[in-house]
Amino acid sequence: MPPLARLRAAGLTDIADKLDAGVRLSMADGVRLFECPDLLVVGYLANREREKRHGPRAFYNYNIRLEATNVCVASCLFCAFARLQPGDPGAYTLSLEQAWDKLRQRAHQPLTEVHIVNGLHPDLPWSYYTELLRGFKRIRPDIHLKCFTAVEIAFFADFYQKTDEQVLRELMDAGLDSLPGGGAEIFADRVRKKIANDPYKCDADRYLSIHRLAHRLGMRTNVTMLYGHIETFEERVDHMLRARGLQDETGGFQAFIPLAFHPDNNPMRKLPAPSAADTLRVHAVARLMCDNIDHIKAFWIATGVEVAQTCLWFGADDLDGTVQEEKIYHMAGSPTPTSMTTREIERLITAAGRQPIERDTLYNVVAHV
Ligand code: SF4
Repeated sequence: MPPLARLRAAGLTDIADKLDAGVRLSMADGVRLFECPDLLVVGYLANREREKRHGPRAFYNYNIRLEATNVCVASCLFCAFARLQPGDPGAYTLSLEQAWDKLRQRAHQPLTEVHIVNGLHPDLPWSYYTELLRGFKRIRPDIHLKCFTAVEIAFFADFYQKTDEQVLRELMDAGLDSLPGGGAEIFADRVRKKIANDPYKCDADRYLSIHRLAHRLGMRTNVTMLYGHIETFEERVDHMLRARGLQDETGGFQAFIPLAFHPDNNPMRKLPAPSAADTLRVHAVARLMCDNIDHIKAFWIATGVEVAQTCLWFGADDLDGTVQEEKIYHMAGSPTPTSMTTREIERLITAAGRQPIERDTLYNVVAHV
């Protein structure tokens, strides 16, 4: 069936017309995109938007992920990574030297980014975090440090009795370059109260206000959405619209990153993981709703490698990077590898029919000489 007839059969011609005219999609449009039985039509619309922005290009970066500690005072129901107390089985905290060694050991790799997220540790001195960053910059002054979620920033502020702005400024002074998007989960109160109801975990408004502040201070950030658990379609679209709203104000988000819920080893293990079809649709709807955010990332660790490849035809234009060490998803049962070489990523992008482009954290094209 030609695309137009199929659009008509799916009842989405008005949405296609809006997109053609550059008219923003509404909450009701977003919900219809989730409800439409014809996944391929939704993907077709998302792919048109994706190709308008990026043509055949698909981005990745040469990065390393590091989780310096999994000790965490919070207890989010979906989390298999956190251990409550130092000394609990599986709890760990890297010494500064151990953390720095992860970078020193990769002196031969042309890495462009270190990405750090952690549990909310109740016993570390503030200097641990500032020294962590300073040490990385001493080892590789040119490396981009994308570190600490807004949830961590809020925790630091409360725990070390600083304002959010003081925390951000002191971390920037120590070498922080940007914030990752983790900790957004689902903004809607109903869901957040059920899956992340913890006094140590900041609410949606504070998450967004920390990103607003980071943008005002000159940093770029990402925003995530944890999907595939107890949230409704309306709550997914609401999440996308709140991200879009802040982006209208600041323009500071680089990428919207849907993160698939993984049900192993956590209190929500009775729920099934989201299907591949759901994952494709979430990326597609994110591309269509978040019209002011440049990039939609299919984080291959979370989606699985094959689904990430397919996402490149469903609105996504970025696959994250080499990663190299990942614990958060793997402790929740992700069967993906923990690392890919740049050659492997390029091969899988090419096999998906897209053009691999290595980027740095700020989406500058990286040319190795
Ligand atoms: S999601 Fe983050 S804040 Fe929540 S328990 Fe896990 S590590 Fe702690």
